[in-house]
Amino acid sequence: MKLQILGCAGGMARGRRLSSYLIDGRLLVDAGALGAIGPDELEAVLLTHAHLDHVLSYPMLLTSRLASHCETLEVHASADTWRRLRKGLLSDLVYPDHTAQSTLAGHQVARTHTIDGPFEVLGYQVTPLPMVHAYPCLAFAIRKGAVGVIVGGDTSDSRPLWRFASENRWVKHVLVEVSFADGLEELSHQAGHLTPSMLEDQLRGFRRRSVQIHVIHVKPELHGTVRRELRARLGDRVRVARDGQTLTIG
Ligand SMILES: [Zn+2]
Ligand SMILES: [Zn+2]
Repeated sequence: MKLQILGCAGGMARGRRLSSYLIDGRLLVDAGALGAIGPDELEAVLLTHAHLDHVLSYPMLLTSRLASHCETLEVHASADTWRRLRKGLLSDLVYPDHTAQSTLAGHQVARTHTIDGPFEVLGYQVTPLPMVHAYPCLAFAIRKGAVGVIVGGDTSDSRPLWRFASENRWVKHVLVEVSFADGLEELSHQAGHLTPSMLEDQLRGFRRRSVQIHVIHVKPELHGTVRRELRARLGDRVRVARDGQTLTIG
C-alpha cells in the first residue's frame, strides 16, 4: 500500500496544499486540494467531513470528470456530510451538484454512499472512527491484506485512533492532526482540534512503538512552533508530514 500526501496543510499558505491523501493512486481521502493529480486518475473518494478545507476541490472534480467522460466515481461520506454538502456547497446557489449527471457515454459521474459502519471499497476494508470536531467528522482505518493505515480526521480527541491501533495489529501508520500550538487548548477544544500537549496526553496509553505517527493539518502560520513543541514533548515518536511525501505501508 502506498499513501501519497497530496496536501496536509491546516490552512492556506504559499506553496501549500489542503487535506488530500491518495492511496495506491486510486482511493482519495478528502478533496481539499487536487491539482497534484488529474481528475481522471481516481476511482473512489472518502470524505471525513464537509469543512471547506477538506472538500474544496470536490465540486470541480465532478465537473472535470463529467467533461472527460470518466468512469463512475464511488464517493463515501456520512449522512451529516452529505446533508451539509447538498444544502451548502452543492446547492445550486453556490455550485451545481453533478453527481447524478451522465456523460455522453451514459456513465453516471458519481455514485454516493452513506457511511453507517465498516464497508469495503476497491478491495480495501474501511472502518470509520467518529472524531470530536465542530460537527460530525470521521477518521478512516483502511486495510488491505495484512497492513493498513489510519487517516485521522479533524478532532480534539485522538484516543479512538490509539484504541483502534492498539486492538488492530495491521495498523502500521497513523496520520493525526495537530492544528494549534501549546497554550491554545481552549480554542482547540472549541474548534475541535489538537495541540502538542493534548496529543502527548492522549498518546500516554498507546504502547505500540512500531506504529509510525505522522502529524497533519498544522496551521501554516504555527508550523515552526508546533514542530518545536512536538519534538520537545514527543521526540522522534511523531513526525510532521509534508505535502508531496509518499508513505509505504507494510
Ligand atoms: Zn474541520
Ligand atoms: Zn480541516
